[in-house]
Amino acid sequence: MSGPREIPHFINGQRVAGTSGRYGDVFDPNTGAVQARVALASAAEMGEAVAAAKAAQPAWGATNPQKRARVLFRFKELMEREIDDLAYLLATEHGKVVADARGDIQRGLEVIEFACGVPHLMKGEYTEGAGPGIDVYSMRQPLGVVAGITPFNFPAMIPMWMFGVAIACGNAFILKPSEKDPSVPLRLAELMQAAGLPDGILNVVHGDKEAVDAILHHPDIKAVSFVGSSDIAQYVYVTGAQNGKRVQAMGGAKNHAVILPDADLDQVARDLIGAAFGSAGERCMALPVAVPVGDKTADALIKKLLPEIEKLVPGASTDPDAAYGPVVSAAHRERVENYIQMGVDEGAELIVDGRGFTLQGYENGFFIGPSLFDRVRADMRSYQEEIFGPVLQIVRAKDLEEAARLPSEHPYGNGVAIFTRNGLAAREFASKVNVGMVGVNVPIPVPVAYHTFGGWKRSAFGDTNQHGMEGVRFFTKIKTVTQRWPTGEVTDQAFVIPTMG
Ligand code: NAD
Repeated sequence: MSGPREIPHFINGQRVAGTSGRYGDVFDPNTGAVQARVALASAAEMGEAVAAAKAAQPAWGATNPQKRARVLFRFKELMEREIDDLAYLLATEHGKVVADARGDIQRGLEVIEFACGVPHLMKGEYTEGAGPGIDVYSMRQPLGVVAGITPFNFPAMIPMWMFGVAIACGNAFILKPSEKDPSVPLRLAELMQAAGLPDGILNVVHGDKEAVDAILHHPDIKAVSFVGSSDIAQYVYVTGAQNGKRVQAMGGAKNHAVILPDADLDQVARDLIGAAFGSAGERCMALPVAVPVGDKTADALIKKLLPEIEKLVPGASTDPDAAYGPVVSAAHRERVENYIQMGVDEGAELIVDGRGFTLQGYENGFFIGPSLFDRVRADMRSYQEEIFGPVLQIVRAKDLEEAARLPSEHPYGNGVAIFTRNGLAAREFASKVNVGMVGVNVPIPVPVAYHTFGGWKRSAFGDTNQHGMEGVRFFTKIKTVTQRWPTGEVTDQAFVIPTMG
């Protein structure tokens, strides 16, 4: 009897079967069935990928930047031809609906578009006559071999955030995608190859902690970009830095929507439904906490939310009418349901309970109905921690000051949104809130590719954000040259630190 399909690594330009003997199950979250198994790499297999990357990188780094950009242009074309199939594949491993999976790919392609501008983005600076006969110029150079470790929830966008910029800048890249939905990342690498990328410049090595540790300890990997949950982000940041690597590590989130009494509540209710329950709440920029200001606003908001939530029924990710699909795994469903119980035990008021939901025809799928809590308090653990499921928690605030304090004092600081018609209040809030990305009447303020993505506090460790110029800075190092050409005139010996006079 043949077992489940095997998902191989992609090393040095080809598919390579795993040799560690360890595999991870890849589920179809709609049916709960194992649909494939993915090879989990050992440190030795990681070493082979790094060796291939190291051998290939110098020639790629020396290729002029417009030629590197042309590979990305072709990759984008190939992706656009395949986008429907890729979205379907993504939806059946992750559980987000196909239209949302398309958005995942599209947002990644926007970073590829940005990275196509690399000839401009890598330009250095020049000063003529910084001293007598002296010019100073700077250049950005690739780091060498760099790595990206990515989460399950954006298996297309987040790898493209990283490798798009890193490869455009002349690095070779090792991608260690989530072992939960590895097929799309593998296909991305094959399409980069088909677009003309030389062997060894983009390698996909699947795995778990063992593969991550191999990256963190490998002396030839110069930088690590990580996105995932906060405890692991912190571990990657600390361990990578201890080993002398440049590290950026994005973590979890608990984003708040502050709703002032003058907001357009019909629009807010719609925005909240999409942002709290879309993708089953498995987005780091989801809005799982609503903070209406004043009891009148809270009561009116709940009145508008309730009929919308009652209409909201999860469906198979392949069903075009489904609002959202299953969560990624049975273990994750259990975790979300435990948080709902925790909220009840802590004294929050559970108005809609999504636990125990089954979908006809998909009885073993990992579905959870939508849940709504009212009267959640800031001291509750179920408020402090990230749930990452289709659960909306309402925390009532008496005034704007109290409402603004909640996201500012929360341990996570990824995104926040304010809904109001008062420009001055919104401006003050955006300026003062202790959170990295702010929406003003925009529920999911994921910045466009040529700006930059990153949270604060436990939502990000390290100094540089993803994509935009921050991404270019992360994946390059600056060299500064101070030059003088002989004029025939011999200057005196100098025993003091040179100054430019
Ligand atoms: P995760 O932390 O479980 O996994 C992320 C990566 O780390 C995966 O590649 C995984 O294989 C690896 N990993 C898992 N356990 C490890 C361990 N013990 N040691 C070393 N590596 C390990 O995250 P996830 O469940 O895949 O993704 C969801 C999380 O990611 C949520 O917390 C979400 O908020 C966060 N996220 C953050 C952002 C952001 O930009 N801030 C974006 C997307 C997702």
